[in-house]
Amino acid sequence: MATPLGEGPKHGAAMSELLVVEHAAFAIADGRFVWVGRAADWSGEAARALDVGGRAVVPGLVDPHTHAVWAGDRLADFDARTSGRSYEEILAAGGGIRSTIRATAAGSLDELVALARPRIAALVSSGATTIEVKSGYGFSVAAELRMLEAIDALAKAGRARLVPTLLIHIPPADARERDGYLAGVIEELIPETARRGLAAAVDVFVEREAFSVEEARTILECAREHRLGIKIHAEQFHSIGALELALRMGALSVDHLEACTAKQFAAFAGAKTIATVLPGVSLHLGLPAAPGRALIDAGAALAVGTDLNPGSSPLFSTSAALALAVRLNGLKAREALVAGTMNAACSLGLLDAGRIEAGLPADFLVLEDRDWRSLVYTLGANAVRETWIGGVKA
Ligand SMILES: [Zn+2]
Repeated sequence: MATPLGEGPKHGAAMSELLVVEHAAFAIADGRFVWVGRAADWSGEAARALDVGGRAVVPGLVDPHTHAVWAGDRLADFDARTSGRSYEEILAAGGGIRSTIRATAAGSLDELVALARPRIAALVSSGATTIEVKSGYGFSVAAELRMLEAIDALAKAGRARLVPTLLIHIPPADARERDGYLAGVIEELIPETARRGLAAAVDVFVEREAFSVEEARTILECAREHRLGIKIHAEQFHSIGALELALRMGALSVDHLEACTAKQFAAFAGAKTIATVLPGVSLHLGLPAAPGRALIDAGAALAVGTDLNPGSSPLFSTSAALALAVRLNGLKAREALVAGTMNAACSLGLLDAGRIEAGLPADFLVLEDRDWRSLVYTLGANAVRETWIGGVKA
């Protein structure tokens, strides 16, 4: 058994600290771990015993960044891009993110739930027991709320813990509608989301083609007034001040960071804001990966997510995201496990997930292999044999 230990988040060198117990055992009651140790030290009585045959056990993974609810597809975009067409040509042909918004905004609640259910199931079978899911393809207030309702319905129907985030994703194509759109977000969408308890946090995509730092600050201050957590999609393509805003406002996480530069690394040392990297995007788009190694060496607390979405990261495996983080972001196997469990949980404001410890929900994985490192070594097959959530096999 391998698990991070103690309360997180873990920064820098502490990301390499794992508790590894050979011949381990744990006891579960009422969905929680009640005892964890070496099998030889167990002296209690259990109503039922489960022998995993010497296979490795790790905590359930936490996927801290997904856009798992969408309608339509981007297969034609993918084919066009990999055939040499430019992003502008794809947009001109009606593709790109606005095609996903058109399809998602037109989808009924039932359709959105039905489309997302197998994606959530795929993440769970890949080891995720807690999954953040963002809105952001609805655009209008009504369609954004419908996306959040779909996440709520998925959470109630399944075993995995889903953590919903309201994402303010893309401004109107017509610049004249921009102020009116932002007014709707501030006066209607965020208050209604908070009133109905439909999201734990608000996220903003800050980028040259998306929202400015000033606009993000206004949106996130509104979120804070409504007692919601805050997150930022930052430094994906350009460094325009989003990261500094996130750290200044004490965001739960700042996600992407591919364009993060050396002079920004030190700001993460000891910061409570988690640096979340998303290697699926780097692989799918063929772009440079976020400097995970340098961020950890500078003292950051790193998390890794799939960023599951139709346009830039069709990655349906949370354990594969960790495997990619080792290859593309330079993480050690140990760091990847911490990044995909405890630190990812902290990026969602959760302190009771991401480790195997008495008192916490019994979310854990039985791997196919006897060595836990197979989780981040394996490519193209599922290293996870069983996903257990709250003491029940999913
Ligand atoms: Zn994203």
